[in-house]
Amino acid sequence: MSIYGDMGNVITLRRKLKTMGYNVIIQNVNPGQDLPAQSDFYFMGGGQDNDQYLIFQDLLKKKDKLINDVNQGVPVLSICGGYQLLGKKFITGTGQMVEGIGIFPVETKAMDSSVKSRCIGNIVVDLEIEGLKGEKLVGFENHGGQTYIIDNSIAKPLGATLVGYGNNSFEKQEGCIINNAIGTYCHGSVLPKNPAFANWLITKALNTKSKLENIQLNTSFSLVDDRISQKTHDNLISRWTSK
Ligand code: GLN
Repeated sequence: MSIYGDMGNVITLRRKLKTMGYNVIIQNVNPGQDLPAQSDFYFMGGGQDNDQYLIFQDLLKKKDKLINDVNQGVPVLSICGGYQLLGKKFITGTGQMVEGIGIFPVETKAMDSSVKSRCIGNIVVDLEIEGLKGEKLVGFENHGGQTYIIDNSIAKPLGATLVGYGNNSFEKQEGCIINNAIGTYCHGSVLPKNPAFANWLITKALNTKSKLENIQLNTSFSLVDDRISQKTHDNLISRWTSK
């Protein structure tokens, strides 16, 4: 699952970690393949309704391992269709019921007559995540699904949408976070456009690995040059919020 440039997130993670001195192994997991025995980070991109319907039964076979790792603090970055499938359920545009993993306490339903159009366009989010408060998240969204957090006691949105839709066309809230697992509608790719968010995720992955394996790991970004990314990020925010 990866559309609208989502693989750019994996490229960003690999580039930053290699600059920090790490050897990065990327393992694609296709239907029928098991998850690696040990993962430091999970990424899942977006997909059309049909793609989601094709893979969800296979994804359910990976549920226990994914939930165990999320509970241990292993970060997940899931985008749009991936986010929806890591929720509790998704009802597609043709009424197909797609059972989700249940990492996020969210339910997604296809657009109905109350929704004027697909949620398409640039998005700016005022982050409320611990460690990123005051940061903005910029991206591009393109989804019909309307997502609702159904248990705010265990999970929170990433923040309020200043530009664009986010989870649905009504609440002006975007995404979901539980432990270090992130669901977001931000395609784009989201990580190269949001250096602080990318670095936050990398730090979470390294700190979790350090704790689980009882090893010391370098979490310094001093060798990572985010100047161009930061300039792009700041320009996009000023351009999209000034309209
Ligand atoms: N098929 C889902 C929807 O339209 C997700 C689309 C996507 O991943 N961009 O809501």
